[in-house]
Amino acid sequence: MQEGAGVLVHRAIGHEDTNRLDPFLMLDDFGSTRKEGYEAGFPSHPHRGFETVTYMLKGEMEHRDSTGRSGIIGPGDVQWMTAGSGIIHEEMPRMKGGELRGLQLWANLPAKKKMTEPTYRGYEKKSIPVVKTSGGAEVRVIAGTVSGERGPVRDVAIDPEYLDISMNPDTEFRHDVPEEHTAFAYVLEGEAEFDDSGETASARVLVVFESGEQIVVRTKGEPVRFIFVAGKPLKEPVAWRGSVVMNTQEELRQAYQEVRAGTFVKQH
Ligand code: MN
Repeated sequence: MQEGAGVLVHRAIGHEDTNRLDPFLMLDDFGSTRKEGYEAGFPSHPHRGFETVTYMLKGEMEHRDSTGRSGIIGPGDVQWMTAGSGIIHEEMPRMKGGELRGLQLWANLPAKKKMTEPTYRGYEKKSIPVVKTSGGAEVRVIAGTVSGERGPVRDVAIDPEYLDISMNPDTEFRHDVPEEHTAFAYVLEGEAEFDDSGETASARVLVVFESGEQIVVRTKGEPVRFIFVAGKPLKEPVAWRGSVVMNTQEELRQAYQEVRAGTFVKQH
């Protein structure tokens, strides 16, 4: 599918997953090896009521917004943006070394924080700890804790974990899903077994876990790289249109009316 002004996107999580994957709304895997596949980018668009988490794997994303902020997210960098009461921004991906791939996750905000002041948190690759587990996995800890190493993303409403896990062939990774959290893995490349069924999941497959379970991931002859993400469900009504996610239809109408009137971005 195409998003923005024609960026090629694989949507791993979308509207139909809202109840099952609460508090997560969307996961887009975007990238291209052809310029036409991304160069028009994501021109000026509004966000309100949730958070966007951009993780660049290859290439860069340049962003610029209504508060006057701008910057470049490079390979291995993470941007955790709280849209809160509203920002209008543009996001322009570009290749580096002929390659471009990134992930954007949308995480919902609880009703009481939807109109909070917009904030950006940027984490460069070097600020994200890399842990080697006893089972042979290499884990970049963006949010959460692995083997005593805590990731830099903290104080987020949904109490998230976000791990980027690489495993060589014939290795194992175990991890506990917190009680009452929603958790999933999304395979970036290679393949692995994510349960005891003997079936493998490969690139672009989403695996959803039970809350409170211990996940066991095993590789056989192939390596694997996947993200593991968990968060606390909000259990609130979701009203979602375009890039605004609120609790009621009235709040959506108001948001888009403000976009048209030029009063969408609030002073705090
Ligand atoms: Mn955006």
